[in-house]
Amino acid sequence: MAKILIVEDEKAINTLIRKNLELVGHKCISVFDGSAVNEVAEMHDFDLMLLDIMLPGADGFQVIGQLIKEIPVIFLTARDAVGDKIRGLNLGAYDYMVKPFDMLELQARVEAVLRRTQKTANQFKLGEVVVEMEGRLVWFKGNMVDFTPQEFNLIEALIRNRNIALSREKLLDIAWGFDYLGDTRTVDVHIHTIRKKLEWEDVIKTVYKLGYRLEVPR
Ligand code: CA
Repeated sequence: MAKILIVEDEKAINTLIRKNLELVGHKCISVFDGSAVNEVAEMHDFDLMLLDIMLPGADGFQVIGQLIKEIPVIFLTARDAVGDKIRGLNLGAYDYMVKPFDMLELQARVEAVLRRTQKTANQFKLGEVVVEMEGRLVWFKGNMVDFTPQEFNLIEALIRNRNIALSREKLLDIAWGFDYLGDTRTVDVHIHTIRKKLEWEDVIKTVYKLGYRLEVPR
């Protein structure tokens, strides 16, 4: 799991981002002022920084220009001007998100940057289940277990969003693609198979009227 610095002066947004990233196992530190970034960066090794542009102290562009350590950056900003995006990306930002954004999308982008910078865990272990993300392989009690590509997509989505409830519609989109016109009951059928093969009856929780959640001890 990664160590992430959140630089955002709007407390509610900062807290919301932190809580969501902590749910999936990341360690986060919140900063509310651009001029405080280097002080915190000196004390910790961060794998990623989420950086707002409009900040007190020093704005996001100044922060990235004065940074004493190399930290991959995703810009967060209410501005959607093309010039700002280009400026941010030219300064070395890995990605750029315009507020307001969807938390699942932010999480997906965070994981994508961590994958690019090789900071994400390639292996997930829970009890006697081992999942190799890159190789798309699953072991249970030392034996390799076969899953269809869609079932593996479901397993991966549940793991990457562990402890977060995912709706059947979201899972259908992730596992079958956004243009697939299937029935959400398809998700139930495949979740049933996954639960059975991995003895995950108590690990994949059914969320009433919504969908499913992979429950992992924090
Ligand atoms: Ca701001």
